[in-house]
Amino acid sequence: MKALLSVSDKTGIVEFAQALHAMGVQLLSTGGTAKLLADQGLPVTEVAEVTQFPEMLDGRVKTLHPKVHGGLLARRDFPEHMAALKEHGIETIDLLVVNLYPFEATVAKAGCTLADAIENIDIGGPAMVRSAAKNWKDVGVITAADQYEAVLAELKANGKLSDKLRFGLSVAAFNRISQYDGAISNYLSSVTFEEDKLSEAYVPARAEFPGQFNEQYVKVQDLRYGENSHQQAAWYRDLAPAAGSLATGVQLQGKELSYNNIADADAAWECVKSFEVPACVIIKHANPCGVAVGATPFEAYSKAFQTDPTSAFGGIIAFNRPVDKAAAEAVSKQFVEVLMAPDFTAEALEIFKAKVNVRLMKIALPANYGDVRNALETKRVGSGLLLQSADNHELKLQELKVVTIKQPTPEELQDLLFAWKVAKFVKSNAIVFCKNGMTMGVGAGQMSRLDSARIASIKAEAAKLSLQNTVVASDAFFPFRDGLDVVVDAGATCVAQPGGSMRDQEVIDAANERGVAMVFTGVRHFRH
Ligand code: 5GP
Repeated sequence: MKALLSVSDKTGIVEFAQALHAMGVQLLSTGGTAKLLADQGLPVTEVAEVTQFPEMLDGRVKTLHPKVHGGLLARRDFPEHMAALKEHGIETIDLLVVNLYPFEATVAKAGCTLADAIENIDIGGPAMVRSAAKNWKDVGVITAADQYEAVLAELKANGKLSDKLRFGLSVAAFNRISQYDGAISNYLSSVTFEEDKLSEAYVPARAEFPGQFNEQYVKVQDLRYGENSHQQAAWYRDLAPAAGSLATGVQLQGKELSYNNIADADAAWECVKSFEVPACVIIKHANPCGVAVGATPFEAYSKAFQTDPTSAFGGIIAFNRPVDKAAAEAVSKQFVEVLMAPDFTAEALEIFKAKVNVRLMKIALPANYGDVRNALETKRVGSGLLLQSADNHELKLQELKVVTIKQPTPEELQDLLFAWKVAKFVKSNAIVFCKNGMTMGVGAGQMSRLDSARIASIKAEAAKLSLQNTVVASDAFFPFRDGLDVVVDAGATCVAQPGGSMRDQEVIDAANERGVAMVFTGVRHFRH
């Protein structure tokens, strides 16, 4: 058995080669890899010796040769193929170990020159990987160090690799090549071409979004169906999911997550993650129907639940603190679809054990508060894609501009920041009444801001909550004074809105006339 090893990332390669050697596998290798292995006392043949061509053109041409590709591509079960190898003195290669020039890491560095990026486009590596992966029936192809273990285990047990493993390695290899080519394509199509500046030291200007967009995702699981039972669906995650995102979670118990569960769970998790203090978020149909902060998870949940107990039925609930006994007991009294938290105490787990249908998700919070989700958001439209950076704006107290005679009290300011944070996660048009770190009425997803305001009041009334002396956040500006009048009529004494309407003055005058305080945030949070 013969293996060709040619790796840029040399992590674990010596140990792997030693294990191969111990099993009697012959080692072939390229310059840098060969030197490393030889230095460790391993008998290794340089590819240059096999091809009878030196590595040339600064390594651009090392393995691009029929002696290499013939050895990888020949079908062992085709006598004509084997005869051709014999005729041309080509030996079969049974195992290929390649990882590619670090293109992604190179272009991620600030100040990367165009020349450096280009030089880090691996040519011979992907060519060999494709040859081996195409010929998966006869050749095992290893493209990542975390595959070494499984390969060695099978070789030790059976002296050869199973069809299943070789096929799996081949799929992984094509995925890696596609990801690699995607990175090259994204990089190059983001470069602004400036002919007069081309030199070795030229660091190109790059567009925020590439002219062509290639992304790769990995399937997490198939789903029973999509938004509705006649739609097929599956869940995919980013190749490298951001720390603290839904895809990094583990399900501890309960039925399989559904398509709608996942969408709602993501909304709940992203919202609860945005609070530094203990918080609880209850989501229904992608909208928060109750959000609160409190001294404990129990207190936060109790307040969040009060906002809209009717809608909370069958909700998706997220905490940003471990769920303890008190919180678990309280939550277990309601019908809950999914419960998410960074952790659960043993007592809490015990309480949910009996409720086998409740899906418990444990997700680590990001290491630093404020670390945000993966940068890009996509949405399919027509036969294409809309791409945007995530709405990660976090409003600071000092960014609030009071525009009325009446000034907000410190408590009102605290609640305004809370209400504003919640409004960001409510579908537009969003009107959110709050008091004492708790949502008191949420109006979501209406085509008119007035209707959202009215619905928030109706909901508060249904929940037997008083909106007197509440603060209210409006995710976008009031185009006329009528929206403001509705929320003041409902009892709000302090209002946050972006400002920026042609009729700002009309709305400011109205606020002064009604004797309420109003602040402009200068930023809008549409969410569709
Ligand atoms: P080494 O450190 O062994 O000298 O080089 C290993 C790297 O060279 C691997 O990343 C491999 O993918 C790459 N490589 C192997 N053959 C060729 C080739 O013919 N051309 C180019 N550009 N890269 C190659």
